[in-house]
Amino acid sequence: MERTLEWTHIIVHHTGAEEKDTEQVRSYHLSLGWQDIGYHFVIERDGKIVKGRSLSRPGAHCRACGMNFKGIGVALIGNLEFHPPLKKQEEALVHLLRSLGESFSIPVINILGHNEVPAANTLCPGRFLVMEQIREKVRAYSTSVNTQPQLYRVQVGAFSRKKNAEALAQKLRGAGFPAIIVSR
Ligand SMILES: [Zn+2]
Repeated sequence: MERTLEWTHIIVHHTGAEEKDTEQVRSYHLSLGWQDIGYHFVIERDGKIVKGRSLSRPGAHCRACGMNFKGIGVALIGNLEFHPPLKKQEEALVHLLRSLGESFSIPVINILGHNEVPAANTLCPGRFLVMEQIREKVRAYSTSVNTQPQLYRVQVGAFSRKKNAEALAQKLRGAGFPAIIVSR
């Protein structure tokens, strides 16, 4: 049965390896018996954005929270647990996130690193890809062209100790809410 996909999130990954290019990632995923590369877009080292699997099909990049069916999968080549993304890669990422966000009316808060998805137990996209900074850049980009939709955030608490924030976020996640912690 053909299922109509509605993209409400964008999930950011690193490939976790140092592939040469998108084709190498694709052949690896095909070797796993997958129908195609798992991501919808791959960003190579020179900042080139390469199309992965078609957006008319669910991805194979994040099973947690059913994100394969509602989250567009974007991956940067490299292991960003060990080194930061290259400048061109990061610029391409911000550009891609902004244009996907506009095309599919996805709010910036729904742009998540793989490990920010509740119950996704992973280091991906690596500690050198700081998602809060990426979202900040996408926001700055978006408001400069005034396309940001009005958003209503629900705030439930602010804590001076991160541990206490973690505890509340954990409770909310337990109740099924995708809580994330932002620091300022
Ligand atoms: Zn991932």
